[in-house]
Amino acid sequence: MQHDLVIHGGTVIDPSAGRRGAYDIAVSDGKIAAVAQPGSLAGTGAQELDASGYYAVPGLIDLHAHVFESVEGMGARADTVGVLQGVTTVVDAGSSGEKNFERFLRDSVEKNATDVKAWLNISSLGLEGGKSELKNTAALHMDRTVERIAQFPQIIIGIKARMSGSVVQGSGVEPLRIAKAAARRARVPVMAHIGNAPPALSEVLDLLEEGDVVTHAFHGKPGGILAEDGRLIPEARAALDRGVLLDVGHGSASFSFRVMEQARRLGVHPNSISTDIYLDNWRSGPVYSQTLTMTKLLALGYSLEQVVEMSTLAPAKVLKQGDRLGTLQEGTPADITLLKLVDEPAELVDADGQTLTAQQVLKAGYAVKDGAVVLCK
Ligand SMILES: [Zn+2]
Repeated sequence: MQHDLVIHGGTVIDPSAGRRGAYDIAVSDGKIAAVAQPGSLAGTGAQELDASGYYAVPGLIDLHAHVFESVEGMGARADTVGVLQGVTTVVDAGSSGEKNFERFLRDSVEKNATDVKAWLNISSLGLEGGKSELKNTAALHMDRTVERIAQFPQIIIGIKARMSGSVVQGSGVEPLRIAKAAARRARVPVMAHIGNAPPALSEVLDLLEEGDVVTHAFHGKPGGILAEDGRLIPEARAALDRGVLLDVGHGSASFSFRVMEQARRLGVHPNSISTDIYLDNWRSGPVYSQTLTMTKLLALGYSLEQVVEMSTLAPAKVLKQGDRLGTLQEGTPADITLLKLVDEPAELVDADGQTLTAQQVLKAGYAVKDGAVVLCK
């Protein structure tokens, strides 16, 4: 049988199938046609890709990025932080709202090979309206937000609410109440950004339900998920028990090695690894890429299988697309990333300027998006 593409010689890691080992992958018509014993597909590909020395994993998904290019000085080009870095799906986290979503669609979704999805900001203009987008709750439009989601259910996967002091100002948790009410009507989850109080994290967490996501979960600012004595605050325990999910959302100020290490000691783990990448922290760090963020979690003690699952199947489930994304199952879109663990000592830096030495760095070699091969930069 002839295939469009055969990837051979690599080590497959596919958490959706509990699979790790030497396999070849065949792709036809933009879909995974087969994952088979090494050598068994030799010579059957119109295009063949030698993946020796690479891990072939489902296409990476970044659950929190900023790719609305017309938000001046902020939005990165989706392909730059997407397929060119081995990330086949990026989820923009609240750069646009109901009012400017159609421009986001034209500027970001339609112009890139990378699959772009969105958490719609509960504020009508998203981040285009400034960085205090939730201070005036009278300007939040629940009905229009619900209508936009109904109009673009393939792209808008949830609602974003940034719940920190500088964003909400005097509004407290009211913007999150509105976001939750809209999300319930639209049957989508909420991604709540956490940071400096007020509002208190306990109040934010108490409003979240199963399937909602807390991003920047491991930030190092006061008032985070850990109390001063290093224990998990009870509201965080209760939220985890309800099925609320923790997301890394590294960003320029929102990921702390110290907090992540202590949380891990307590058995509290990220569900998903995401970057909160935008122009500035892509160019000048400390974020740079999804794979570098994965490298940091590796250096903190997570296994390669774990960081792959946290960057593929786990975020795919948040998108409610675990049956077609974040997997190498036959018949699903051929989104594949070839990763290499390079032996190279590196000094990793978190968002608080703390460092950690790694002996290996995870790098993306190729992305395959809907069957098309992209060489990563
Ligand atoms: Zn963000």
